[in-house]
Amino acid sequence: MIKRFIRRVFGLPANHTDRVPRQKHGLARDAISPAAAKVCAVLREAGFSAAVVGGAVRDLLLGIQPQDFDVATDARPEEVKPLFRRAIIIGRRFRLVHVMLGGETVEVSTFRAADPDTAEKDEHGRVLRDNVFGTQAEDARRRDFTVNALYFDPATEEVVDFHGGLADLKKRLLRVIGDPVTRYREDPIRMLRAVRLAAKLGLALESATRAPIRELGPLMERVPPARLFDEMLKLLLSGHASACLRQLREVGLHKGVLPLLDVILEQPLGERFVTLALAQTDERVLAERPVSPAFLFAALLWHEVLAAWKARQASGERSIPALESAMDEVLDTQCAKLAITRKLTATMREVWAMQPRFEQRAGSRPYRMAEAPRFRMAYDFLALRAASGEVPAELEEWWRSFQSADAETRKAMLLPETEPRKRRRRRRKKRPGAGTPAPEAA
Ligand code: ATP
Ligand code: MG
Repeated sequence: MIKRFIRRVFGLPANHTDRVPRQKHGLARDAISPAAAKVCAVLREAGFSAAVVGGAVRDLLLGIQPQDFDVATDARPEEVKPLFRRAIIIGRRFRLVHVMLGGETVEVSTFRAADPDTAEKDEHGRVLRDNVFGTQAEDARRRDFTVNALYFDPATEEVVDFHGGLADLKKRLLRVIGDPVTRYREDPIRMLRAVRLAAKLGLALESATRAPIRELGPLMERVPPARLFDEMLKLLLSGHASACLRQLREVGLHKGVLPLLDVILEQPLGERFVTLALAQTDERVLAERPVSPAFLFAALLWHEVLAAWKARQASGERSIPALESAMDEVLDTQCAKLAITRKLTATMREVWAMQPRFEQRAGSRPYRMAEAPRFRMAYDFLALRAASGEVPAELEEWWRSFQSADAETRKAMLLPETEPRKRRRRRRKKRPGAGTPAPEAA
């Protein structure tokens, strides 16, 4: 018992045999994709070992359809590539092989070691370089959670389990391999992954896995923005974004993830807006409808933009230039931390910049607005603002009708040309009971 505990704390492989037969885990070889099965078979025929690993094995054992299949092998990338007709070696930090087979891409990685003593680290313990080939046991050891370090060998239908991942799956626990503090210091993004995977898989965070997150949260600052962005996007598009955000707040990580998100969430309107946006996104993802990351980030940051916009107007700037500067200000801050791509920020800007134009309902402007390329997304955004009580529900209703109305009705709907514009923006009516139309994101 003590021995096992010590092994677990230090992440040492258990000394009993770790090959678990099919009768004990129930996973059959036909559960894996044809391409992944083929890749394993080809590698095996060439004299190498090969197994499906990571998220796919975990998901299958939980009865979830995996998004993709990764294969781990003792063959080097340059040994893997020639075995397949369509295969490329990718990656700088880690060299991997992508094998394309019948419309599927299987990622094949060579067993790697991440020797904590020899890996290059920064002054906070973050691993900078750890690309050393190793044994299967070492490969398991460098993975983040016990449930992510399971290997399924389609040839024998055995699961190779070095760290008690099968037992943790049964207990529905997400547990870091080794000492959580060290593992989070090596790679702080694991804290975000813990929250995301727990929410996605319906697992509880094991107590030692959860405990250090609050204190180590500031280490997220050191994560390269592009990686943070990738993980954040995965989280937001997981279909469990609301649950993830709740968890992030619970473990105290939300501050490190989106700067100032905590400030937004403390304002009642901001919180309502973000909550609605995430709930709609989850609904769409679970219904397998498309979701626009630009729409989502625009929503997450809208109340930041609003605050900056109002502050600039209060100090005398004119409305439109003030909005432009507010968008710059917010995007500058956020992009420093989160590498939101240029393509995304361009769309976010369009959606934001169109919001004041919804208030112009006279003359030819509504017609031009309705023809704008981002109109639909901008309208969905307006609907969210109305649902959160930020703008009158009547404004959203007007635009909803205008879109589908015939020429005659449209003409009758137009407001008189003289309506003062500035006053309308100030007139904020709280309409918390307003409905929540589904966004039709691009
Ligand atoms: P998802 O189903 O959301 O893709 P996943 O666990 O498959 O979840 P990936 O990012 O695809 O996540 O990673 C594949 C595997 O690589 C993981 O299962 C884990 O074994 C390992 N891994 C990923 N990120 C890390 C990390 N930061 N530290 C250690 N191991 C990691
Ligand atoms: Mg994966």
